[in-house]
Amino acid sequence: MLINMMEHYVDERLSELLKDYNCCKCEVCLEDMKAFSLNRLPPKYVSTVNGQVFTRIKQELESQPSVDLDVAVIQAIQHISAKPRHD
Ligand SMILES: [Zn+2]
Repeated sequence: MLINMMEHYVDERLSELLKDYNCCKCEVCLEDMKAFSLNRLPPKYVSTVNGQVFTRIKQELESQPSVDLDVAVIQAIQHISAKPRHD
């Protein structure tokens, strides 16, 4: 099974960075923020066997340079929260 590790990075950073924002955090907005970020970041696919990759994901997550990631996620938060897809 293939997973895109970038999704894990975005999930992690999004929930962390959103703590500083007083914007809508409903499921629609969260998904839009994720999509917005992921469309601007390179995918990073890894193959997993019975979830065995997860220790490595954690290690890589900690060593991942986070600047571009944070920039993309912050842009996503600002863009989506300024114009939520719902009323
Ligand atoms: Zn919302």
